[in-house]
Amino acid sequence: MNTLTDPFNRKINYLRVSVTDHCNYHCQYCRDEDHQTYTSRDEILTYEEIAKIVKIFSELGITKVRLTGGEPLLRKDIIKLTTLLNEIESIEDIPLSTNAHLLAPMAAKLKLSGVNRVNISLDSLDSDRFNQITRGGDLKRVINGIDAAIEAGICPIKINMVVMRGVNDDEIESMIDFAVDRNLDIRFIETMPIGIAGINVVDKHFSEADIIQRIQSHLPNRLSVVKSKQTDGPAKNFLINHTNSCVGTISAFSNNFCDSCNRVRLTAKGRLILCLGQKDSFSLRDAIRSGINDDEIKLLIIEGINKKPRRHDFDTALDNISSSQMVEIGG
Ligand code: SAM
Repeated sequence: MNTLTDPFNRKINYLRVSVTDHCNYHCQYCRDEDHQTYTSRDEILTYEEIAKIVKIFSELGITKVRLTGGEPLLRKDIIKLTTLLNEIESIEDIPLSTNAHLLAPMAAKLKLSGVNRVNISLDSLDSDRFNQITRGGDLKRVINGIDAAIEAGICPIKINMVVMRGVNDDEIESMIDFAVDRNLDIRFIETMPIGIAGINVVDKHFSEADIIQRIQSHLPNRLSVVKSKQTDGPAKNFLINHTNSCVGTISAFSNNFCDSCNRVRLTAKGRLILCLGQKDSFSLRDAIRSGINDDEIKLLIIEGINKKPRRHDFDTALDNISSSQMVEIGG
């Protein structure tokens, strides 16, 4: 099998695909309060176009394809896409990132169609606070979604909590307990200064070191380091001894982890984003719609990966960051 390697000798084997830039939630750190999406259907990639791009990437060595958004479960007939992707031979892993608002009735079908694991965003277990952070979210529906995914046998399920000082940092311990009770994994995410919404929460930043200290105080002598797989990328993970749960952190800000970056991102409109924190991108949608053949698209992708930036500059130069909001990029 081919491998995609960038100029810094990083093996790129992970593609994040945003299937829509619409979202039913309006999370404070992800999407500016006034942000609306007006994207029309013909601007976004069709399922056939996504599957074609993923197939080409798979021939270049991509084995993991995460579906994200916006909110991916808002896209009509998403099972049609997961089924198409599951038919691509060398794609081994099709995880989904969701806010779980629409998950309950779809969990079993998603699992059957090849979605082997899900990441669920959950920033508070207090329904009023949850509603405020998400600007309208319904905690009860999300918990029903999580329970339906457990019932459907999707495993592992990972809870992603974005930790914000003075907003929800007092819930780190209760979130761990929630995850352990349900045999779920939990990951605490540092806020990233992406787009206006991300920059607006910079003052609420809660560092990875502080998160780890709180985890260790809550679980003294109960953590064993888990060795990551190459497709895991930069997360730090610990098994919570005597449970089925792992706890982890992801910190783009405190620790520049770009040396282990293994991914590129495809937006709903078909732009290939080479680095989460830089503007470099190009349109694969326009390329495939221009009628060029698969080998030519492959060459375009290889040329693109050759331009993948070495690192983001969140920690040194906020003005170099792409102005796109996370809701458009997919996390
Ligand atoms: N709607 C889905 C969801 O809720 O998971 C998928 C899209 S969401 C953009 C993907 C991930 O991006 C979520 O885990 C979210 O918490 C994370 N995210 C968005 N903005 C962020 C920011 N400024 N800093 C850190 N993480 C962020």
